[in-house]
Amino acid sequence: ASVVGIDIGNLSSKIGVARHRGIDIITNEVSNRATPSLVSFTPRQRLIGEAAKTAETSNFKNTVGSLKRLIGRSVNDPEIAEYEKKFINAELVDVNGQVGASVNYLGEKTAFSYTQLTAAYLAKLRDTAAAELKQNVSDVVIAVPGWYTDAQRRALLDASTIAGLNPLRLINDTTAVALGYGITKADLPEDPENARNVVFVDVGHSNYSVAVVAFSKGQLTVKSTAYDRNFGGRDFDYALVKHFAKEFDAKYKIDVLSSPKAIFRLTTAAERLKKVLSANSEGPINVESIMNDVDASGSLKREQFEELIGGLLNRFNKPLEEALKASGLTVDQIDSIELVGGSTRIPAIKERIQAFFGGKQLSFTLNQDEAIARGATFACASLSPVFRVREFAVHDITPYSIQVAWEKEAGNPDEDTELVVFPHGNAIPSTKILTFYRQGPFAIDASYAPNQANLPAGTNPAIGKYTIKGVEKTASGDLACVKVKTRLNLHGILNFEGAYAVEEVEKEETVVTGEGEDKTEEKKIVKKIQRKGDYQTFAQYNTVSEQLVNDWTEKEGKMHAEDKLVMETEERKNALEEYVYDTRGKLDDRYKLYAQASEKEELLKGLSEAEDWLYTEEGEDATKSAYVTRLDALKKIGDPIALRYRENEDRPRAAAALRETC
Ligand code: ATP
Ligand code: MG
Repeated sequence: ASVVGIDIGNLSSKIGVARHRGIDIITNEVSNRATPSLVSFTPRQRLIGEAAKTAETSNFKNTVGSLKRLIGRSVNDPEIAEYEKKFINAELVDVNGQVGASVNYLGEKTAFSYTQLTAAYLAKLRDTAAAELKQNVSDVVIAVPGWYTDAQRRALLDASTIAGLNPLRLINDTTAVALGYGITKADLPEDPENARNVVFVDVGHSNYSVAVVAFSKGQLTVKSTAYDRNFGGRDFDYALVKHFAKEFDAKYKIDVLSSPKAIFRLTTAAERLKKVLSANSEGPINVESIMNDVDASGSLKREQFEELIGGLLNRFNKPLEEALKASGLTVDQIDSIELVGGSTRIPAIKERIQAFFGGKQLSFTLNQDEAIARGATFACASLSPVFRVREFAVHDITPYSIQVAWEKEAGNPDEDTELVVFPHGNAIPSTKILTFYRQGPFAIDASYAPNQANLPAGTNPAIGKYTIKGVEKTASGDLACVKVKTRLNLHGILNFEGAYAVEEVEKEETVVTGEGEDKTEEKKIVKKIQRKGDYQTFAQYNTVSEQLVNDWTEKEGKMHAEDKLVMETEERKNALEEYVYDTRGKLDDRYKLYAQASEKEELLKGLSEAEDWLYTEEGEDATKSAYVTRLDALKKIGDPIALRYRENEDRPRAAAALRETC
C-alpha cells in the first residue's frame, strides 16, 4: 500500500510520500515540486497539470482552474458570482445539480462537473506519485480547507473514488500543518495543562486560515479556527490588474478589461510584480502585445501596492481576532506564531500578524509551501499499516453546528422536534447515539443549524435524510425505543451509521460483595437495557448518486486511456522521426564500413519514404501502430548494420580492457 499526502492548492498542489527514512515532497514530470492545479481540453486530448499550464496562454478558455473552490457547489451559488467568476475563463454550467465547466474537447462542446474535473486532476497527481513510488497508489490523505462544508467534502470523496483513490482521511489544512509541526518536536510539554499554544496562519492563493492549536507530549488539540474564505494572492493580483488596466487605458488607450486574453496576460505580469515587491520597494511591469499590438509597461512602489490592497488588508485582523477569542487565550499565552502559504511572504501581511501579536517574533520553522502536504503525509502514515509512526493524537473540531430534526411522534406530545447533535467546535471524529420512542417507521433530517454567520452564503443547509423502517410497538404495547447512531467521521462528514431497538429487560444477576472471608454472593433482579435487532435503514446525502459516480468513473477511465494513447502515439512518432535522422547521419559516418552498398541503398530509400510520409496529412496524424510498423520495418534493415558496427567496436575495446587488467 502507498502512503501519500496531497495538498490541493488553488494555484498548485504538492504531493508527499512516506519512505523509510522520512517524508519527501516529490517532483513531477518536469521536476517541479508543485503542480499547477489546472485541467485543459484540446481538440486532441486533455492536458493536466504542467502541460495545461504550458498551453494555458493559447488555450485559456478551455483551461479550467479553481478546482477546489468550485467542487461541491452549485452553479447558482451566490459566492460563485461574487468571488469566483472573475477568475474563471471557461463557461460555467449546471451538471446534475453541480457546477461544471463547458469546454471544447475533441472538437465538441462538452460539460464536465467540477467533481469530474477535480477527479481528472487527482488522477494526474496519482500518476505522478505512482511514477515516483513505482507502485500503484490508492491510499492517500487529502488536505482540505477547514471551512469545507459537508457537500464539498463529499464531492471531494466522490472525485477521489472516480480517480481510483482511497482517502483514509480528509484532513483540515491547518490541522495537517499542526500535525507536521507537532510530530517532529521532541520538546513538547508533558503536562497538557501547560500545553504549548501555537497559532498557524495560512494565506495562500485564494483563502486564509487561522488555527490556534495546543501541543503537549504525543498530542495536539485544535482549540479554535477562523477563516476568510475569499482572501489570498489572487485578490492581490486582481487589485494590480485593475490598477494597471486604468493606467494603460490612460497611457495607451486600450481597454484591458474588455479582453479576457489581455486580462490573462496582465494577471500573469501582475503576479510577477507582486512577488518582486515582496523583496523590493519598487518593481517594473511589462506585458508584450497585451492587446492591439501594444507593448504595455509601468512600475509600482511597494507603498502604492499596499494602498491598492488596503481594503483587503483591513479585513486581515478579523480571523485572527475571532480565532484568539474562541480559543479563550490571550496574546501573552501564545508561544509561537507559524506562517505558511505563499502570500505570507508579503511584508504588509507579516507586519499585520506581528502587530496583532504585540510585536512577537514570527516563526518560519515550517516549509511555507510544503507544510500541508507533509502533514497530510504524516496523517496517512499514521493511518496506514505500512510504516510505524510515532503515536500522535490529533483532536480536531468542526466549524459548523449540525442539527437533526424529525416529526413529532403522535403518542409522545411532549417530544422536541430538533436537536443540535454536533455543535460548532465539536470534536472530529465523534459518535452520538440519539434515542427515539416510536410506534412506526420514521425519518430524521440532518442539516446545518440556522443562523451560522460563518457558513458560506447560499450553502444548502440539507446534509442528509435517514429513514428507519420496520419500527413497531413492543409486545407489551409500549412505544419502541429506537437508537440511531450518528457520526461525524474522520473526514468531517456526517453519517448515519445504523439504528437498532433496545428493550428494558429484567435479569437475575449474582452480585458479589466483599473479599476473602467477607465475600458474599447475592442474587438480585436488575433492569438492563438490551440491544435487540437492527432496523433496516435508508440514508440519502446531499451528493450525486452512486450510479452517477460509477458513470463518471467509467468516463474518466476512458479519457485517461485516450490521453495515454495520444501520448504514446506522440512518442512513437517522435521515435520514428528520430530514427530517420539519426540513422541517415550514421550511414555516412560510423556505419560506413559495415553496410553493403545494396543495404545502404535500401535503407536510405526506406528512410526517405518514411520522412516523406511523416510530412503527409496521413503521416502527421496516424495511429500508434502505424508508427510502430514503419519503425519496425526500417529497423529490420538497419539493425543488422548496427549490430555489425557494435560487435566490431566492442571487440577492440574488450581487448583493450583485457590488456589493462593483465
Ligand atoms: P490556496 O491555499 O488558496 O488553495 P495555494 O495553496 O495554491 O492556494 P500557495 O501555494 O500557498 O497557494 O500560495 C500561492 C500564492 O502565494 C500565489 O498567489 C502567489 O502569487 C503567492 N506568492 C508566492 N510567493 C510570493 C511572494 N514572494 N510574494 C507575494 N506573494 C507570493
Ligand atoms: Mg494552500
